[in-house]
Amino acid sequence: MSKNNGKYKLIIKRKNKKNLSMIVEAGTVTVAVPNDYTDDLVQYYVDSKEKWIQKQLHKEKSQPKFIERSFINGEKFKFLGKEVNLSINLFGKNPVDFENNIISVRVKDNLEIKDSLKNWFKSQANEIFTNKTIEFCKILEIECPKVIIKQYKTKWAQCKRKKLNDNFTYEVTYDWRIIQAPIEVIDYIVIHELCHIKVFGHSKDFWSLVNHYFKEANNYKNWLDENAFSLYWESPN
Ligand SMILES: [Zn+2]
Repeated sequence: MSKNNGKYKLIIKRKNKKNLSMIVEAGTVTVAVPNDYTDDLVQYYVDSKEKWIQKQLHKEKSQPKFIERSFINGEKFKFLGKEVNLSINLFGKNPVDFENNIISVRVKDNLEIKDSLKNWFKSQANEIFTNKTIEFCKILEIECPKVIIKQYKTKWAQCKRKKLNDNFTYEVTYDWRIIQAPIEVIDYIVIHELCHIKVFGHSKDFWSLVNHYFKEANNYKNWLDENAFSLYWESPN
């Protein structure tokens, strides 16, 4: 009988893997464990994480999932943390124009609005993340990695190491939606990923390196945790 019985749903998944992992989603705690873990062992682990689980469950409850977008004339969006208005324009010069905090999207039919807008945000993300990456690589005194922009399901960015002959090359991928967040959040994400080129994983050494280059890193890490929902255009589930 589990101690958490009734408080939340616990799902145990046995897998051919070496490590244990746990996620809290939609009021359910899912633990993936190596095949040879007994129920008691899993329960012991889950109990030891009770405080963290409660925190995650509370966070989930108190946080809106995402704001439904309509992609209509006059709708408000965020770009680099500032409010911008969407203007639907049938006769614009370019597919998307940005001036005086107004994003004008030229469209032939309404279905195109979302795609045009998304493409514009992605191209802005590509430019800003590339420039920021170059800027911070100079400060960190590292070679610039390749920059990729995409949309992730469960993370905001990733730093990948690739072996090329006898050397390593790096590739940093950012989620374009972060471009809606304040510029300091972008700085935090870029510094975080670039620090992974120096230190793998999230050890104490890693965080002290991040803090060395960006003293307020923690504030913007929290901002991202608390405001993630505001960056979604579609339901995250
Ligand atoms: Zn990381």
